[in-house]
Amino acid sequence: MNNKPFKMGYVALIGAPNAGKSTLLNHLLGQKISITSRKPQTTRHRILGIKTQENSQVVYVDTPGMHLGSKKALNKYLNKTADASLTGVDIIVWVKDDARWEDVDASILEKLRDIGTPVILALNKIDKLQDKASLLPFVQEVSTKYDFATIIPISALAGTKLIDFEEVVNGLLPEGMPLYPEDQITDSSERFMAAEIIREKLTRRLSDELPHSMSISLEQFKVEENITRIYATIWVERDGQKNIVIGKKGVVLKEVGTRARHDLEELLDTKVYLNLWVKIKKSWSESAREVINLGYTDL
Ligand code: GDP
Ligand code: MG
Repeated sequence: MNNKPFKMGYVALIGAPNAGKSTLLNHLLGQKISITSRKPQTTRHRILGIKTQENSQVVYVDTPGMHLGSKKALNKYLNKTADASLTGVDIIVWVKDDARWEDVDASILEKLRDIGTPVILALNKIDKLQDKASLLPFVQEVSTKYDFATIIPISALAGTKLIDFEEVVNGLLPEGMPLYPEDQITDSSERFMAAEIIREKLTRRLSDELPHSMSISLEQFKVEENITRIYATIWVERDGQKNIVIGKKGVVLKEVGTRARHDLEELLDTKVYLNLWVKIKKSWSESAREVINLGYTDL
């Protein structure tokens, strides 16, 4: 236990095929805690893996459409009006394995610029370089093209600089409670998907007004013969935030609940009773243990 605030967030991995995204993920997570979700189409993001440490929980997510090998693939992606896959993440990690700047990269940057999320550029496979200094001109070049949060040379395969990489990630993560239990090892079970769906509906409904430190926990998930009963708590920090989430005469919460219930019924293939509460948790800066205990007992 210590007094550091707990941090929790979503990190999207993008980059061309073969850049080394999977290798990086495997190295960061180790097999034990890597997971895949069973019904990827039901949420914005496919969860690739979760890493929970004493003071942080990082959820690595896939961004369908951003594994771009060609200009054609990119254009197809950019032409889609809804680019939900990159919104709602806290950090974007762009894995790049060739110290070369191409047209397709400029188009990716345009997209990232629109989104405005901090971007870490991870220059991978430095173990293949005879002379590490040979990267410097490229680093200089790309740093003039975009205001990256960091440009960091790594080797996903050899594990070089990955500790520094994780420090950068942790530094950029927002404060928040862990959404997943710390020993989550199998798939994104329906309970987690349920929390994700509620979160998604809130995000969509409130967008800019969404309290920064909001989080969701599931109190109960009762499967009965003809109905599943889900009791979830939306945690915020202040009265004002609570009012925003509930809305005038409860209109926001009602709408979010209806939409979430609709998706949940589809996901679970049963009728759903959804009970949403908004509660105030005064400070996130509690010990990680207490934070984890909050409402997760039934997961
Ligand atoms: P992804 O398509 O982005 O997921 O790329 P992968 O992780 O599947 O990696 C593609 C290939 O590059 C594999 O053969 C990896 O072993 C290799 N690779 C990934 N990272 C490194 C690295 O840091 N150094 C070297 N030498 N090879 C790497
Ligand atoms: Mg891969």
